[in-house]
Amino acid sequence: MLVNSKEILKEFKRNNKAVIHFNINNLEWTKWILEECNRLNVPVILGCSESAVKYMGGFDVVYSIVTSLIKDLDIKIDVVLHLDHGHSVESCTKAIDAGFTSVMIDASCEDFNQNVLITKEVVNYAHSKNVTVEAEIGIMGQLNHDNVNFGSTTNVSDVLEFVKQTGVDSIAPAVGTVHGMYRGDLKIDYDLIHEISMKVDIPLVLHGGSGLSNEILKKCVKNGITKININSDLQDKWSLGVREYLANNNEVIDPRKIISSGMDKIKSEIDLKLNIND
Ligand SMILES: [Zn+2]
Repeated sequence: MLVNSKEILKEFKRNNKAVIHFNINNLEWTKWILEECNRLNVPVILGCSESAVKYMGGFDVVYSIVTSLIKDLDIKIDVVLHLDHGHSVESCTKAIDAGFTSVMIDASCEDFNQNVLITKEVVNYAHSKNVTVEAEIGIMGQLNHDNVNFGSTTNVSDVLEFVKQTGVDSIAPAVGTVHGMYRGDLKIDYDLIHEISMKVDIPLVLHGGSGLSNEILKKCVKNGITKININSDLQDKWSLGVREYLANNNEVIDPRKIISSGMDKIKSEIDLKLNIND
């Protein structure tokens, strides 16, 4: 069933566990993630970025694909359809109007007051439609080719003030992770995660979870993270599977066979990530 993220996040937070947000890119990824999470009987957050929405054809297409798969595959678990990194009020509004049950408004590149104003506008509209809102504060690290910009971590009193002023449902504070497939040593500030989680009532979200071992992810959860976003890890594993398949089957032209050759690797990666709650 399609639901907003409120109850799921509440329950995972209460149990000191983390729900995984997997990004979707097309029909196949959506299907595989739903099938695997349903097989394991765990709720899932399907994150769709603005560029993935555009790629798939639009907000209505994404909503139709997700709801139709839930119906036709007889998916029993709770599913959240979440706009990942909405960069404007307009984009969040469009997602909500199409039926997305959760949105992230990312105005973290704005100054504090502007981020509050923009987030508040999205919260007001979303809550009137029973949609949950995630926001971001601080500057997340970014991986651009081989250059890593580590951004800057968030200060605790800013998070407290931001949550109080916006009424947002969950928050992604910058705590030292990096967007993209980062494989080096990260300086994750576990103490900062812990301190924020002690002072802020709402669930905390970790962006840039890809490339991190389960040991590191578990440490983040232990310190107060309730939602972990995984995008690049699935891309990495899928492309590995496809590359292997094509190297051994260079005469195959059936797109279904080519695209699906990454399926097993994606499903194993989903299993691996879900192990953090064991
Ligand atoms: Zn992110």
